[in-house]
Amino acid sequence: MNIKDKGINTKLIHAGGFKDPLGSATTPIYQSSTFSFESADHGARCFAGESDGYIYTRIGNPTIGELEKSVAELENGYNGIATSSGMGAITTVYMYYLGAGSHMVSHNAVYGPARGVMESLFSKFGVEYSYVDTTDLDQVRAAIKPNTKLIYTETPANPTIGITDIKALAEIAHEHNIPLVVDNTFCSPYLQRPLDLGADMVVHSMTKFINGHADIVAGMIVTKTEEDYKGIRPVMANMGCNMDPHQAFMTRRGLKTLGIRIDRAQKNAIKVADYLDKHPKIEWIMYPGLASHPQHELVAEQMDGPGAMMSFGVKGGYEAGKKMMDHVELALLAVSLGGIETLIQHPASMTHSKLSPEAKMQAGISDELVRLSIGIEDVDDIIADLEQALAHV
Ligand SMILES: *Cc1c(COP(=O)(O)O)cnc(C)c1O
Repeated sequence: MNIKDKGINTKLIHAGGFKDPLGSATTPIYQSSTFSFESADHGARCFAGESDGYIYTRIGNPTIGELEKSVAELENGYNGIATSSGMGAITTVYMYYLGAGSHMVSHNAVYGPARGVMESLFSKFGVEYSYVDTTDLDQVRAAIKPNTKLIYTETPANPTIGITDIKALAEIAHEHNIPLVVDNTFCSPYLQRPLDLGADMVVHSMTKFINGHADIVAGMIVTKTEEDYKGIRPVMANMGCNMDPHQAFMTRRGLKTLGIRIDRAQKNAIKVADYLDKHPKIEWIMYPGLASHPQHELVAEQMDGPGAMMSFGVKGGYEAGKKMMDHVELALLAVSLGGIETLIQHPASMTHSKLSPEAKMQAGISDELVRLSIGIEDVDDIIADLEQALAHV
């Protein structure tokens, strides 16, 4: 059976292709730090990369390996490298591509810590960066320098829900021989496959949609080529931001229901966005599924659906938004996203609070912006909750 020819929902269940010798329907948890060799020669072949055998779990593990292969097959990539968290994946990518004297162009509205770690830590090692709005390709062109070694973006962006044209950005990057890495967390491979659009690597916080049950923190890198896979894998292993086998088992289990979870959350989100869009107390709303989204056509081109994330502003600014957040009963007032439960949060005081006021303004993260991650509850209950919370405003 060639899994590559199958539909995405079939791939979600059967990708990875692990065959358990005892016939287990799920991949066993190989909760072992180390693996014995058949002989001294076999050990030497494993270390030389001439045998597929496992050595040590920080470097690789069968349970983790199955998850890596599964996500890579969904993203149409060469292979995956699982990490302890999404930030583990992002810092591994930075470590692989960047060094003293090199420069990165990135989106000014990326995940807060992905920017924070660059500005506070990588800068100490002489890495330079420019944060621009990658939804505007002219800003990217103007920011590229002779020492630019990486273009890194996220689409839809967090939390502004701006959409970057991956295909056009990849063309610009490759004209300058610069690799493009895309954070695909907000969509997951179910809704968007950046490698097919020209990106060289994809990163994920699998904490979000891929695992989807708010019970695991996990990350993944998927490379397009064998060369990049062989180059970046030791970076992860040497930095020690590897996944744990139990974490891999949980994430592989979550991945199986990704399709039905996103279908349901997205269906709910379309209705919630429509409701908020018409609400007299809502000043503005950004959701890829609304015709009012400035890049509505691009959404249709590069995404298989508008997803379950939206942001909005309540009339009366932050104080009004705060009142609403303090009165939700069903939605959890919590950071993170992409889970089965509806979550509401305030980026300016929570996820993006470490950004300077200028950086927040430049990234379009206004004080009144409230972010919603729609879950799979009954949509009437989600809307009723928002309705009663808005009544307090
Ligand atoms: C949460 C998140 C991350 C970081 O992932 P962790 O698993 O929390 O380390 C990176 N990118 C995006 C878009 C995220 O939402």
